[in-house]
Amino acid sequence: MSSPLLAEATRIAREFDYPADQVQRGVAEYIRQSNEGLAKENTTLSQIPTFVTAVPNGTEKGLYLAVDLGGTNFRVCSVQLHGDTTFSLTQSKIMIPRELMASGTSKDLFTFLARQIEAFLRIHHNEHFEAHQRRRREGHEEEELFDLGFTFSFPVRQYGINSGTLIRWTKGFNIPDAVGHDVCALLQSAIDHLDLPVRVAALVNDTVGTLMARSYTSPGETGTLIGAIFGTGTNGAYVEKLENITKLKHIKDAHYDTHTGEMIINAEWGSFDNQLSVLPSTIYDRDLDADSNNPGIQMFEKRVSGMFLGEILRRALLDLYNNAQLFKATETSVPSDSFLHRQWGLDTSLLSDVEGDTLPQMPKIKAALKEHLAIENPTDDDCKAVKILTHAIGKRAARLSAVPLAAVLIHTGKLDTDDIVDVGVDGSVVEFYPNFEGHLRDALREVPEVGVAGDKKVRIGISKDGSGVGAALIALVASKDETLKNP
Ligand code: BGC
Ligand code: MG
Repeated sequence: MSSPLLAEATRIAREFDYPADQVQRGVAEYIRQSNEGLAKENTTLSQIPTFVTAVPNGTEKGLYLAVDLGGTNFRVCSVQLHGDTTFSLTQSKIMIPRELMASGTSKDLFTFLARQIEAFLRIHHNEHFEAHQRRRREGHEEEELFDLGFTFSFPVRQYGINSGTLIRWTKGFNIPDAVGHDVCALLQSAIDHLDLPVRVAALVNDTVGTLMARSYTSPGETGTLIGAIFGTGTNGAYVEKLENITKLKHIKDAHYDTHTGEMIINAEWGSFDNQLSVLPSTIYDRDLDADSNNPGIQMFEKRVSGMFLGEILRRALLDLYNNAQLFKATETSVPSDSFLHRQWGLDTSLLSDVEGDTLPQMPKIKAALKEHLAIENPTDDDCKAVKILTHAIGKRAARLSAVPLAAVLIHTGKLDTDDIVDVGVDGSVVEFYPNFEGHLRDALREVPEVGVAGDKKVRIGISKDGSGVGAALIALVASKDETLKNP
């Protein structure tokens, strides 16, 4: 007989079911919202034109700088593209101080970023750095600058390959005075203030970087179609026919010749279905949203990505704790300052650790509860209840992730040929949550237009830290092609 605790855990878990018919409705609605986003501005799915009009083929060469802002860490790197699908990368990672993410001014943040670039240059490229300073002092006109790709993983309205204004912050960032400003210009001015030999050449969403990096390292007959992130946040970019981006018509008619007739679109699918016409919702989803700093937006992301899965689980566990005797055995202790009681207290790695435990003694679950929640001596039923909820929340996230993928596959018609369709992915959830891809593919196959045959054509590959390489590749394109700049 299952205990009342496990019965209640199972009941809650069922609220996270996301069956085939809902997946199918989700895909149809995604296609509708994505077409709307290609046609006009200010739609739920932003469908942002990126001005990147070709994917690489592995022969690109040169040394570029890249920085990446958008997750937990700020990364600075230099990338040497060898031109034979390989590259070498030197990088440093710095945790972004919390106060810079959510309370300071944009000047504080961008000054911090420029200082990290300076430190990186001094450590790894000091010769170039000093040569630049010397030429400056001697009054040379000609400057030798590093071209830098700026991976900025937030929704930005792009005006060219190297300019764009911030639409809104996501993922816990909140620096109101930056909204509406050109983030490339903000970074360039902080860089110039420190007199660094660096030109911000390209603005890059991490999904676009991932797509480019994947295409460089695994070039195929047709190149990569989709770059997707399932990490702290979630989003995807894909290759679209220029003629379908009808909101860009003025640019096309004016002077725009892309050679390829294609452009990468940054979907910003974290905001798919903000109106909740098809997304599933539990009481935990609704409460999480209401208590977040951006209620009503990023509704898809709030059900799928790492920043939110831990918080959904925490709320469900708290419910079991308050109402179903979870962690209430006499030997069990839950300190009053346990992260169980703190908003955003639960790191998503807990879900990966719990889901990864398949042993009858549940050692990893016990270790994870201790590490993440300071809970000592949970009973076996406690551990099972945690596992039941974790599994349900993770599986729903993976099945939801199939929705935009299926929609893009169908919309682009890429499944209609015999070719392999390549998808590059990155992010902690897809990388570490056990069987994320398996659950995602189960749902993909349940979409009739994809089916078993379609699923077989889809090749999904991790493009680890792809955004650095991708940003370098876009900086390369940008430094060679004047027409891509702000028209
Ligand atoms: C941002 C996207 C980004 C994604 C993954 C979302 O919150 O809006 O621009 O690509 O996170 O980092
Ligand atoms: Mg990232």
